[in-house]
Amino acid sequence: MGLFNKKPKYLAAICPECKGHLELDANLETAFCQYCGAQCIVENVRKKTKKVSKLEIVLDFIERQQALKRQDRAERRRQEKEQEQERKNELKRTWWIYALVFGGIFTVSLLIALL
Ligand SMILES: [Zn+2]
Repeated sequence: MGLFNKKPKYLAAICPECKGHLELDANLETAFCQYCGAQCIVENVRKKTKKVSKLEIVLDFIERQQALKRQDRAERRRQEKEQEQERKNELKRTWWIYALVFGGIFTVSLLIALL
């Protein structure tokens, strides 16, 4: 009686022969494709379906990684530009310090020479 009480559970599958989309009774071990009549072992078909979804997950993951990399590259370019600007500012500051120091030394030595 347990067998008759069992509700038929259908699972979406893809026929290994004709790639037709099937609804297979998960309680059966084997089923026949309604399009080409190929015999499909339900467990096999289920595994294949899982593989497809895994592949989709992997593809999705790769897609996301590439988007992240693109973002990362843009971010790095921005940082490089900032760093270059920073270097230029640093150089300007350094030149100013040199100019002041040498100007100071020059002025002092001039004063010493004149006095
Ligand atoms: Zn088929």
